[in-house]
Amino acid sequence: MGGTRAGLPVVARTREELREARARLDDGDVAVVMTMGALHDGHATLIRTARRTHAHVVVTIFLNPLQFGPKEDLSRYPRTFDADLEICREAGVDLVFAPTPDVVYPDGDPGVRISAGPLGDVLEGQSRPGHFDGMLTVVAKLMHLTRCTSAYFGQKDAQQLLLIRRMCRDLDFPVNVVSVPTVREPDGLAMSSRNTYLTPSDRETALCLSAALRAGAAAAEEGPSAIRRAARAVLVREPLALVDYLVLVDPHTLVDVPEWYRGEALLAVAGRVGTTRLIDNLPVLVGPRGGPLETFSQP
Ligand code: AMP
Repeated sequence: MGGTRAGLPVVARTREELREARARLDDGDVAVVMTMGALHDGHATLIRTARRTHAHVVVTIFLNPLQFGPKEDLSRYPRTFDADLEICREAGVDLVFAPTPDVVYPDGDPGVRISAGPLGDVLEGQSRPGHFDGMLTVVAKLMHLTRCTSAYFGQKDAQQLLLIRRMCRDLDFPVNVVSVPTVREPDGLAMSSRNTYLTPSDRETALCLSAALRAGAAAAEEGPSAIRRAARAVLVREPLALVDYLVLVDPHTLVDVPEWYRGEALLAVAGRVGTTRLIDNLPVLVGPRGGPLETFSQP
């Protein structure tokens, strides 16, 4: 364990170190930001947002094997711990919990897991079977281990955020779940640790995802099929982006909204660019005075 409050955050690698460091923070008000490392300004924004209203911020850095499929990018996922720690220091983090899998899963693969249920089978869940069960299982464990009162998550991973909210409500976790709008590069690309996989030409191609969302949102006054049509028109002009899905769904049920629908909806896209699977989404208001929303009005 090392570090001081004024300088680098305290780093805990083991449960014992976490327990000791956590005991030194006031019990009442601890926010957690859970990450897989390779931190960027999206993560830093979550931390800074938490910092504004909480006495203490804990960041977890953990590549959770349970949420990666056998053909996914666990082994090549970027690992940049020293730079991550510096970002945490700048953003005012008290404590970084950076365990290895054997610390989080001392008995190996947990036989008991959180089930995401039907909401975990659609969209991302369709391409990544078991992903959301693995994600919720580690989020539940990290909530218990850090004993947080609030947890901050990015709108960037909209389905993940929805499922974490549901888990906390359905299973009575005493944690306030807070969402933070997606942070983007100046050209619109949603920040992601996986963007480092993109070649310069992949990166150009990837811009079609956020451009499609913007085009869809610009048609929001005309209704759902106009939104879908406008977004799809951008994607078809970019054959190098292999689109997995483009949907306009109810943000609570993830079911396609019907043509008569007016109100808040989630416009979400996923696709492969080069070797990298990317996701992005935009909350939109459908109907009169419609357009992109920074965030949904109801959690
Ligand atoms: P990750 O390290 O990718 O698992 O992300 C950790 C947290 O940061 C999750 O709550 C993500 O939704 C959030 N996050 C990742 N990218 C962004 C972004 N571009 N803007 C806002 N939040 C983000």
